[in-house]
Amino acid sequence: MKIGLIDVDGHRYPNLALMKLSAWHKAKGDTVEWWWSDFFHYDTVYMAKVFSEEYSPDRPEPLNADRVIKGGTGYAISLENGRERYCKAMDKELPEDVEHIQPDYSLYPEFTENTAYGFLTRGCQRGCAFCHVGGKEGRKSRKVADLAEFWSGEKNITLMDPNILACPDRWELLKQLAASGAYVDFNQGLDIRLMDNDVADLLSSMRVKCLHFAWDNPSEDLERDFQRFAERYSRKDHRVKVVYVLTNFNSTTEEDLHRIYTLRGLGYDPYVMVYDKEHAPRETRLLQRWCNNRIIFNTVPDFRDYDCKMG
Ligand code: SF4
Repeated sequence: MKIGLIDVDGHRYPNLALMKLSAWHKAKGDTVEWWWSDFFHYDTVYMAKVFSEEYSPDRPEPLNADRVIKGGTGYAISLENGRERYCKAMDKELPEDVEHIQPDYSLYPEFTENTAYGFLTRGCQRGCAFCHVGGKEGRKSRKVADLAEFWSGEKNITLMDPNILACPDRWELLKQLAASGAYVDFNQGLDIRLMDNDVADLLSSMRVKCLHFAWDNPSEDLERDFQRFAERYSRKDHRVKVVYVLTNFNSTTEEDLHRIYTLRGLGYDPYVMVYDKEHAPRETRLLQRWCNNRIIFNTVPDFRDYDCKMG
């Protein structure tokens, strides 16, 4: 069979589902390639999309294919009153034997050179209103794989778990990561509310590329949690602790600034995320530019000074 693949999001990030489908078809002896023209016939074309229509518009289906299969979170998200809604019925899950195959990293050599991508856990109990994880993966973090399922000695591991610290098997999984000796990037962030001294010590002993956290909800006071971790975590690398700060979602600029200044004071690097950036007020977009540009952030410590300068 001849299989065509389309990354509707435009190769901005490795699409895990496509990498797994490619590996599965290749294991069956099928020919797999990126779809590139209606002049050629394909038995099946897979179209995968992670991002919503707003960020990643759909594209026309190929004409010369016996079967076109579309899937991914991006096809299950719609916009209602300026807020994204996820509909599980519109999403597709990979069959179990595809889900648990080692991904075909050769599809994205620009990202995957010496890097393994995958999930050890799925799901999250928190149900944050702006996040689709609960609807898509369930309101409970559970183990779905061992590290060996998608890692075979690569120097780097990019872990995409939504909330590994909420998983009852977290200790076993973190130990697997530590034992790999690889540089680990927890790219969806670690839940600071679930951090304890044992995890902080294990993280201190691991090769970690960058630790990501989030402080999304201004009504939650997480200052003590961040402070406790900052004091316990013994690696003092520069720019190792990045904290996402969600803005334009039920917060005022003063509340945004409180989180930013608090995090900076504790030695973290706040990183502003803007919900619905296209419709965000000028002040929020300016806040993002000020905070996320390290040169500006370090030379103009007070946002109000920057705001005045920008007129
Ligand atoms: S804690 Fe993170 S993964 Fe869990 S629902 Fe909130 S944003 Fe999503």
